[in-house]
Amino acid sequence: MRDWLSNFREQHLTTYTLKFRIRYWWFTQLCLLGIIVFGKWSLIPYVLAWWFFGAMAITIYAHRGLSHNSITLKWKWLEHLCCSLCILSNIGSPLAWAVVHRMHHVYLDEEKDPHSPHQIGFLRSLTHRWDVPFENVPLRFTRGLLRLETPRWYHDNSFFPFIFFTIFIWAVTVAYGTTIYGFGELGYYMMNIFTYDGPAVWLQTWGLEFAWAGFAGVALGQWSMGITNAWQHSDKRGKGHIRNVPWYLSFINWGEGSHDYHHSYPKDYSFGKGLNDPTQYFIILLEKVGALSINRNI
Ligand SMILES: [Zn+2]
Ligand SMILES: [Zn+2]
Repeated sequence: MRDWLSNFREQHLTTYTLKFRIRYWWFTQLCLLGIIVFGKWSLIPYVLAWWFFGAMAITIYAHRGLSHNSITLKWKWLEHLCCSLCILSNIGSPLAWAVVHRMHHVYLDEEKDPHSPHQIGFLRSLTHRWDVPFENVPLRFTRGLLRLETPRWYHDNSFFPFIFFTIFIWAVTVAYGTTIYGFGELGYYMMNIFTYDGPAVWLQTWGLEFAWAGFAGVALGQWSMGITNAWQHSDKRGKGHIRNVPWYLSFINWGEGSHDYHHSYPKDYSFGKGLNDPTQYFIILLEKVGALSINRNI
């Protein structure tokens, strides 16, 4: 009877459609390669900063927040920022990602696991090319998610973060230019945007390079996620076995190093002891300043 019920549920109560996926893995990797080929070493701090904030948005907001409900963001603007950063970081809608990730936990390495290397191959898992038909996602995987206004809005308006990104780059460039040349020169520049030929012209290149560093940071994040999705899930012991990685790799994959602990206790906001999950300290800091609350519900 239970089987029959769960079959019925899987086959019929599946009205949720994950409709979009922005994919630009190759583009971001080319941006990263470009940093190396053209020797743009001065951009490295920006690349790392973009990588860090994108990574935190994914692991704290999409993963621990939306997917597992172990933290709740309290600041609305931070929620908007996290949604935007998630989409820019090439995981698609954080809401859809949360559903996909819940499926990963339940179907671990079996046929319906959306990104198991045992099912789709190591390389596809590593490079986030999951082409799973998501028209029939069982409704239970969306529990609690569809009433969240902010991620729903981003789910339907996924292009906006790219517009916000462009405005942000422009604003930072103008602010940076103003500190160097003052309002007068920058104001004059903006009034004569096409004909200006003064000393601040180089800012145009700087702005573009700042954006370039952003996409290169995203490319790094893709490798961070790849470590977990592909490498940690391809243990020699076979399906369902998870390979932990040493603590220093946990800095690279955002604290997901003790991934078997996370699969055993998915509701714990902490993904491991001490430096096996450096992100937990950042979460505690965010809780102290009132940005989020931790749901200690394990
Ligand atoms: Zn996993
Ligand atoms: Zn998880």
